[in-house]
Amino acid sequence: MVDFSISEVDNEILAQLRAEGKAGEKYTRYYEDHEEEIIPKKFDEADDFPSIMSLMKKRSFDDTPGATFQMLLIMQRAATLGVTLQTRTGGLGNAALGAAGTDEQKKKWGGMTLAMSITEPGAGSDTKAIQSTARLDGDEWVINGDKIFVTTGIRCEGVVVWATVDKAAGRAGIKSFVVMKGTPGFNIVRKEKKLGIRTSDTAAYSFEECRIPRENLLGGDESVPKPGQGSASYKGVLKTFNMTRPAVAAGGVGKAKGALEWCVDALKDEGVEVDWEASAHNRTSAQQTLIEMEADTDAAALTVLRAAWLADKGQPNNVEASVSKSKGGDVCRTVPQRAMNLLGAMSVSHDHLVEVYLRDGRISDIYEGTGQIQRLIIARNILGFSSAELS
Ligand SMILES: Cc1cc2nc3c(=O)[nH]c(=O)nc-3n(C[C@H](O)[C@H](O)[C@H](O)COP(=O)(O)OP(=O)(O)OC[C@H]3O[C@@H](n4cnc5c(N)ncnc54)[C@H](O)[C@@H]3O)c2cc1C
Repeated sequence: MVDFSISEVDNEILAQLRAEGKAGEKYTRYYEDHEEEIIPKKFDEADDFPSIMSLMKKRSFDDTPGATFQMLLIMQRAATLGVTLQTRTGGLGNAALGAAGTDEQKKKWGGMTLAMSITEPGAGSDTKAIQSTARLDGDEWVINGDKIFVTTGIRCEGVVVWATVDKAAGRAGIKSFVVMKGTPGFNIVRKEKKLGIRTSDTAAYSFEECRIPRENLLGGDESVPKPGQGSASYKGVLKTFNMTRPAVAAGGVGKAKGALEWCVDALKDEGVEVDWEASAHNRTSAQQTLIEMEADTDAAALTVLRAAWLADKGQPNNVEASVSKSKGGDVCRTVPQRAMNLLGAMSVSHDHLVEVYLRDGRISDIYEGTGQIQRLIIARNILGFSSAELS
């Protein structure tokens, strides 16, 4: 039976996460306006809160299952706009390491923050267009190429880089490599300037004759495909999307939830109370809009929880992950937009943070595969087409 009830200890953790997110909001506008600065690893206010890890230790098997709870945490955190008071380790590259790395590689790099670098100036949604190359030279791989939009690309300790070992092989030629910061030939070109998530660091890289040990190929040498076979490493890394897509969707749902809450509170301050029980013919237009915003947000949240719940059960969730990403990518745009419509001029003022929900939420419909790409994946699965047949 599907059960999304939340235990007492989990509610305690979620409440603390919300309090921390709220406490960080006093720094948000500063770091929004000073995008070139990197947020400190720890703010003084962090000491006012017990570490989330210490609270996590109180959890037992009776509490919300792991992946599902992870989604609730992300939604809760994203619903507030505070900068992170204490930076924790981990990045998108860690998910790839978990899915495709050997035991030895997991032991070696698991405790570090690893970014994930797929996108290039000429390769976004279409990853088989990747031009970065890796060639084997004795016991070293030599990486060359340009990469853009690497999340946590400045503060990470290393990065999982996609490059092709054989352009003619298309997708099967693409492998992922772990490259540590400080390796000669690995250059940070710039910190990207962005519309939203301006408090998150996003980098552009270049690799010039960058030499890394042979054992830095994710998944090890056996991940190099035999003729006619797909790439195990590529497939392994693709599997990470089945968890990272719901996670990105959860971030989008959180932004929608936060904008809705902000809107309800701001209207209340102006004397506009919402009667959630009013019958349809007695509702004001504002009430109707808020009810629709809530229904859309909840529906999107349920798709995220379903994808995570399947992962917790060890069941395939490829399509559900894409459905959640598509729905999360919708509400992160449409709900803050409707909140701004209701709030009028207040919503564009620099004095209020509500507009940040719209700008920060926007990315949830772009990275980890755009909404259009998710709908392609869903359609292929429903219709039984391969990516070559429906692209
Ligand atoms: C802030 C930020 C952080 C990011 N972080 C990372 C990161 O950590 N690592 C990383 O590797 N990348 C990252 N990215 C890159 C992101 O994953 C890409 O931007 C995304 O995959 C889309 O690629 P693109 O921008 O090249 O758009 P394109 O692929 O050029 O697409 C442009 C438009 O066309 C649509 N489109 C493309 N193909 C199709 C199709 N077949 N059918 C229908 N519509 C289609 C797309 O949906 C989109 O609307 C980040 C991007 C941003 C903005």
